[in-house]
Amino acid sequence: MSAASQARRRQGPEALEIVAFDGGNFSSYSACGIPYYVSGLVGDVESLLVRTPEVFREKYSIQVHLGHEVVEIDLDRGSLLVHDRASDDRRWEGFDDLMVATGATPVRPALPGVDAAGVFGVQTLDDGVELRAYVTERKPRRAVIVGGGYIGLEMAEALCALGVETHLVEAANQPMNTLDPDMGALVAGALQDFGTILHLGHEVAGFQTGPDGRVSGVVTSGGAVAAEVVVLGLGVTPNAPLAAAAGITVGPSGAVAVDQRMRTSHPGVWAAGDCAEKRHRVSGRPVAVALGTHANKEGRVAGINLGGGYATFPGVIGTAVTKVGALEVARTGLGEAEAGFVTDAVVSESTTRAGYVS
Ligand SMILES: Cc1cc2nc3c(=O)[nH]c(=O)nc-3n(C[C@H](O)[C@H](O)[C@H](O)COP(=O)(O)OP(=O)(O)OC[C@H]3O[C@@H](n4cnc5c(N)ncnc54)[C@H](O)[C@@H]3O)c2cc1C
Repeated sequence: MSAASQARRRQGPEALEIVAFDGGNFSSYSACGIPYYVSGLVGDVESLLVRTPEVFREKYSIQVHLGHEVVEIDLDRGSLLVHDRASDDRRWEGFDDLMVATGATPVRPALPGVDAAGVFGVQTLDDGVELRAYVTERKPRRAVIVGGGYIGLEMAEALCALGVETHLVEAANQPMNTLDPDMGALVAGALQDFGTILHLGHEVAGFQTGPDGRVSGVVTSGGAVAAEVVVLGLGVTPNAPLAAAAGITVGPSGAVAVDQRMRTSHPGVWAAGDCAEKRHRVSGRPVAVALGTHANKEGRVAGINLGGGYATFPGVIGTAVTKVGALEVARTGLGEAEAGFVTDAVVSESTTRAGYVS
């Protein structure tokens, strides 16, 4: 929708008809706020919606069709096969230009019991709504988060805030293994400070279920951990199969290959966001990084170009910032492991404000 808005700024409705399809029930929302919606800090779903389909239609003449999944792209005919979930109808929709912004797919390992009720992935607002409803209704006493990436950490904090005994199982020896080990240790301490029970270096082997078919525990290489609700935070992969099936080139990172103007291998087809490959400006390598901050900029760049302007997105430099309880943590550039060689590493201790500010 960032792309759609930018394209509309440059081309009025008489020159450019803009139609968007989304398979889910929401569009243009802040996924970053989902953990705060689950914890109750954000009271209602509406607070996370940036613009509703009605606003897009009335103010911007952009037609947004929710509950409409695109199941095929025919590049030769310039057509999309769209499945309307409500009516179960399928129809072809034509296009001159196509913007692919299918996001990312959460990793859901094919382990025994992974599909049991009470095992949640948290990728879309629909997922967040389902998880909050489950937690509100069933009032679980114990939760297990599988995976210590930043989403897993935010979910651990959300569940601890709700008074749920929260365990975090992570295969690596530190949470957030995109950080160097000394920083990972600080994050581990911060998680424990607000009550998270850590199971580091433990791999998940499956999920146990109770007589009602709901999840009752997580089997790990270090033993079983009882759970009434499980949240998967195992990372995401670019949602590129739809584009790949149409013959659009996918890069070595598994994301749709794009140039700096967000053009794909096929003329008139653009891609942006989690599904699109980025160039790491430090290593020069193609990477897939699923962050809204990049997605939004890329979408804007694609929309400006699609609308007849000129803009580029030169790439990413590995920056990410988050907060774990009271600890603010950030990274940029290449980590020690990512760099592949480390000749020297320096720890610098300093303050974030002048000494006279208490
Ligand atoms: C819990 C959580 C917290 C996050 N916190 C942060 C944060 O603090 N900072 C940050 O920078 N990023 C954060 N992110 C990441 C950020 O939300 C994503 O990077 C961003 O939403 C990606 O935007 P996108 O438009 O590429 O994909 P999405 O926002 O995922 O949108 C893709 C859309 O495509 C739809 N779709 C997919 N396939 C089809 C199809 N075939 N047909 C029709 N529709 C389809 C999906 O329904 C979805 O609505 C967070 C993500 C999550 C899940």
